[in-house]
Amino acid sequence: MARESFQHVIDSHTTLFGVIGDPIRHSKSPIMMNRAFCETGVNGVYTAFHITDQTLPAFIAGVRAMNIRGVNVTIPHKLQVMELLDHIDEGAAALGAVNTVVNDNGILTGYNTDGIGYVRSLKEEAIASLAGKRIVVIGAGGAARGIIYALLQEQPAQITVVNRTVDKAEQLAAALGGYAKNGAAVLDARSTDSLQALCGEAELVINTTSVGMFPNVDASPLDASWLQPGAVASDLIYNPLQTKFLLDAKQRGCITHGGLGMFINQGAYAFEYWTGKPAPVAAMREIVLASLQA
Ligand code: NAP
Repeated sequence: MARESFQHVIDSHTTLFGVIGDPIRHSKSPIMMNRAFCETGVNGVYTAFHITDQTLPAFIAGVRAMNIRGVNVTIPHKLQVMELLDHIDEGAAALGAVNTVVNDNGILTGYNTDGIGYVRSLKEEAIASLAGKRIVVIGAGGAARGIIYALLQEQPAQITVVNRTVDKAEQLAAALGGYAKNGAAVLDARSTDSLQALCGEAELVINTTSVGMFPNVDASPLDASWLQPGAVASDLIYNPLQTKFLLDAKQRGCITHGGLGMFINQGAYAFEYWTGKPAPVAAMREIVLASLQA
C-alpha cells in the first residue's frame, strides 16, 4: 500500500530536539528520530550534543532560551540533570534517573522511558502478559533499575535480582520493592550461586549486564542448559543483535528477545511525549537496523 511520505524541510518554523551525553558520537538516536519526524510530517530536527558535566547547566539554560522542545539524556547526565528541571515524573523520581526532557514553554519536565520502552518491546515481541510470571534479572546497574520498576507495574509473581556484587542487588531490591503495583510482586536479591536453581523455575530470564556485548561476543551470563525450554530469554544488549546468551537459549528451545526493541521503544515514548503523535516504530527500527548492519 502506498504510504504518504513527507519531505524533511528545515525552515524558520522548525522545532529543535536533541540528545546529550559524554561520549555521544556513537548515538543512533539522531538517525532514528529524524526518520520519525520525516515519516510523520513533524517539522523538527534532532541532533547530538556533546555535553560535559561542566557544560550541562549552560545547556539546560540554552534549552529554555532557544525553546528546544525535547531532549534525550544519556550517560553520564541522567542523574545530574534532575536538579536542573522544574518537574520530575513519578517513575523517573523512583528510579533516580531521567532520560527524556519535555519543554512546555520553558517548564521542563523529566521522564524515564527506558523501562516502559523495554516492557512495551518485550510484550510486543516475546510475551503478551507478565502477570503471575517468575522473572530473573541478571545485573543490578542503571539499566536493571529502569526495567525492574517498569516490570513491577505488570504484576509478576516474583522478580529476583542476581548480581556479581550481591550488595548492589540487595540495595536495588530494597529501593524498588515498594513500587509493586497492588503489592502483587515480590522483589528479592540473590548471589550468582543461586542462578542455576532460579533459572529452572523462571518463565523470563533477562540479562542486563554488559556480558556478551561487543567486542566480548563469546561471553554469556549463564549456561543455557539451566533455562526451561519455552521460557523467554531477553538481553538488553543490541550490539550484537543476537548475543551468545540468546543464540544458546534459542538452541535450548527458548523464545528470545534482543535489546534493539528497548532502544527503539524508549525513543518511541519520547517522540510521543514531545509530539502527541503515535511513533512510527517500524520505520524507526528499519533505519537503526540498517545503520547497525552497515
Ligand atoms: P551499569 O550500570 O554499569 O551496570 C552493569 C551491570 O553489569 C552491573 O550489574 C555489573 O555487576 C554487571 N557486570 C558487568 N560486567 C560483568 C561481568 N564481567 N560479570 C558479571 N556481571 C558484570 O550498566 P547499565 O547502564 O546498567 O548497562 C548494562 C547493559 O545494558 C549494557 O550492555 C548496555 O548496553 C545495556 N543497555 C541497553 C539499553 C537498550 O536500549 N537496549 C539501554 C541501556 C542499557 P557489578 O555490580 O558486580 O559490577
